[in-house]
Amino acid sequence: MDHKKSFYKHVAQTSDAPMGLEIDKASGAYIYTSEGKEYVDFISGIAVSSLGHRHPRVVKAVKEQVDRHLHVMVYGEYIQEPQSAYAELLTSQLPEILDRVYFVNSGTEANEGALKLAKKHTGRHKFVAFNHGYHGDTHGSLSVTGRDVYRDPYLPLLPDIHFLDFNSYEKLETIDEETAAVIMEPIQGEGGIIPAQKKWLRAVRERCNEVGALLIFDEIQTGFYRTGSLFAFQNYEVTPDILCLAKAMGGGMPMGAFVSSSENFESFMYNPPLNHVTTFGGHPVSCAAAYATLNELLSDDYGKRATEIESIVREELTAESIVEIRGVGAMLGLELANKELTQKVVEACFEQGIILGWTLHSNTLVRIAPPLIIEHELLRSTLMMINDSIQELSN
Ligand code: PLP
Repeated sequence: MDHKKSFYKHVAQTSDAPMGLEIDKASGAYIYTSEGKEYVDFISGIAVSSLGHRHPRVVKAVKEQVDRHLHVMVYGEYIQEPQSAYAELLTSQLPEILDRVYFVNSGTEANEGALKLAKKHTGRHKFVAFNHGYHGDTHGSLSVTGRDVYRDPYLPLLPDIHFLDFNSYEKLETIDEETAAVIMEPIQGEGGIIPAQKKWLRAVRERCNEVGALLIFDEIQTGFYRTGSLFAFQNYEVTPDILCLAKAMGGGMPMGAFVSSSENFESFMYNPPLNHVTTFGGHPVSCAAAYATLNELLSDDYGKRATEIESIVREELTAESIVEIRGVGAMLGLELANKELTQKVVEACFEQGIILGWTLHSNTLVRIAPPLIIEHELLRSTLMMINDSIQELSN
């Protein structure tokens, strides 16, 4: 069978220029193609493979769970050990008010759930979100995504969504007594790796407290040590009312969650019961993988690894035409002079076996988000190749 032909003919496409790598296998920081070429995965499958590909602890947990049971019942009915164990482990790492986990299958689904929970708990339906924020592509998440080019083809979306500028104190009074929640990424990922300023984030939290609006942190990209702390909010010392997670959570398995207080979650139990359910949320194999992932993350100093990655990136990438290196820990972006140069650099690196990428809302930014397990030698040699490419292509 010609897999390449079937991919282009029968698999629904998301653009007219997919990367088109035909994958044979992946291991650690590497992806291997059917043609026998190896690539350094410098974007971790977009902030997923923080432990690298096929981490032995994750693979072992998946295999063991596959031998016990797969799906047995829709979410919320049966007591399944992998779910309960993971919920306990995850909440043990969170502030006391984030004591309950609702499991889903993806990032966008976590945000959908968070929006519904905020509506049901507050009895309000207004949301405040931020320009250039990205929360996923299902209708609710798209409604709070701050980029018209993605929203316009799908209008009308949810009503009463108000977009503010990220890191701006102007119009914070838009967050008012009618607001169900503010949804935001503490560090905007697809918007171009833009960290929130600490003082500003605290002002947003205070404003939410004043008016009784919930604060939702979408940590789908920033979570699980990508930015140096287990979750970015811990570094900001601002606790959200609802925390949305996915991506690196499952160690390569599909997994997401929104976490909040028992009190908030009560509104999902009544009027009517079963008002928010999912068939596959908290799939036992994904939960087993997530448990192994978090256990591994907690057993070593992954926060330090992320911080070291940042230092090495800043040390090695010195080409003159780099306008700025933005971000925190292993969630970094290189701002280059223009779109053409950015495209050429990404393509030239790809030719040399390095996978880089853009972010969704910026075409002058090269995303750098290697697996946290990457060895320093490989990290440095890859960065040197990237730096040389930038230097050569800017001349
Ligand atoms: N939120 C953020 C911050 C993201 O970066 C993404 C995906 O890139 C999502 C939500 C959507 O996640 P998913 O693709 O798993 O639906």
